[in-house]
Amino acid sequence: MDHEGYLYPCVQFVREGRDSAWCIGNVFDGVDETVRQRIRAASNQEKEGCADCVVKGRCNNTCGCLNWQTTGTISAVSPVLCRYEQMLMKVADRVGKKLCRERNPLFLHKHYNAAYPVISLIEDAAKWDLDRTQNRPSSLASPHLAILASAGIQDQ
Ligand code: SF4
Repeated sequence: MDHEGYLYPCVQFVREGRDSAWCIGNVFDGVDETVRQRIRAASNQEKEGCADCVVKGRCNNTCGCLNWQTTGTISAVSPVLCRYEQMLMKVADRVGKKLCRERNPLFLHKHYNAAYPVISLIEDAAKWDLDRTQNRPSSLASPHLAILASAGIQDQ
């Protein structure tokens, strides 16, 4: 959202302004679904060269703002991002395999415990409460604070 209340799919597009093709509405009239869907469809469009890739579905090739910044369009992936994703997946798989083989409790808890999102939220609420009682600024990221606020656990 920009300082006048105009909405964009990502903070990267704000600089383009409310008359750009990236503005999807404003706080007074809401989101223009037609524009939002047009941008979403372009972002999710199958990218050239991705059809048979083994990391398709895990790759960050649907990040519209990254694509836009590097190729000038949200529906094309830069060769640098493509190579980076392919390298990153190999490293992530190697690390994941090692942690799994070691039965690493934190790794298993985060990736294989279905209750992890709820437990994590409770832990965040406890951390926020501790920060508050010790008069410290909250150490939590803003999305976590927003979830806590929407659950009525804290004020925004
Ligand atoms: S790694 Fe490259 S080819 Fe594979 S899905 Fe990502 S962008 Fe497409």
